[in-house]
Amino acid sequence: GYDADYLHEQTYTETMLISDAFNKMLGRMKVLDDSRNEFVSNVSHELKTPLTSMKVLADSLLIQKDVPAELYKEFMGDLSEEIERENKIINDLLSLVKMDKTANTLNIKSENMNVLIEKILKRLRPIAATRNIELVLESFRPVTAEIDEMKMSLALTNLVENAIKYNKDDGWVHVSLNADHKNCYIEVADSGIGIPEGAIEHVFERFYRVDKSHSREIGGTGLGLAIARSAVVMHRGAVRVYSQVDAGTTFTVRIPLTYVS
Ligand code: ADP
Repeated sequence: GYDADYLHEQTYTETMLISDAFNKMLGRMKVLDDSRNEFVSNVSHELKTPLTSMKVLADSLLIQKDVPAELYKEFMGDLSEEIERENKIINDLLSLVKMDKTANTLNIKSENMNVLIEKILKRLRPIAATRNIELVLESFRPVTAEIDEMKMSLALTNLVENAIKYNKDDGWVHVSLNADHKNCYIEVADSGIGIPEGAIEHVFERFYRVDKSHSREIGGTGLGLAIARSAVVMHRGAVRVYSQVDAGTTFTVRIPLTYVS
């Protein structure tokens, strides 16, 4: 009869809606699962690279008889470098995972941004000095912002470290701090090698490096910018990049002065 048909139709429609929603959820879970799988596979690959070198170095010492002291020392030095690399990757990974895990537990306090940035620059100046790179802060006014000091420091440190790493000898890094009534703006500009146009959209991806061997040589892991962006986004801010090959790169960070959870 009429009622039964109507009921059937209604149940049918509801079932379709539920199955639609279910399919959508499955689709979303698959995207999450795929990206997790990709991450795990990337991590494994990155961790294996130094391990492979370590194995080759150790094996070649093992199969040789009467290794000259000089050679032994050289190989051990290389081995030590690879261990250092592995350590750096693991530390960066831990930072990244910690960011994700504590996304809802920011330790927000009112901080003087001028002091915070000057502290970071002070720590990095000796490194910049080894290549005669000038590191200056231009702050236009005192700025106080509600931030998680540790996480914001890590983000800004990564940006300034990059500005030094991908710079030229005798170059400069200008950090500027500004604010309006709503936001704090931090700019990290360098006179470095720049980023090719096609690469710009990828630099925040985990493990992405424009020049793998160059980054490896200077001790990069490809995680620095992923960590930085994660920290800025947690503060409801945004980070952007502008670059020109051979001229330099500018990263801009905007974070709200007042944290809104
Ligand atoms: P890495 O550990 O390799 O430095 P990041 O995630 O910090 O990894 O950066 C990703 C890549 O973006 C780097 O390998 C480098 O190619 C490029 N990059 C980052 N910052 C700069 C910069 N200031 N100038 C030029 N290239 C940069």
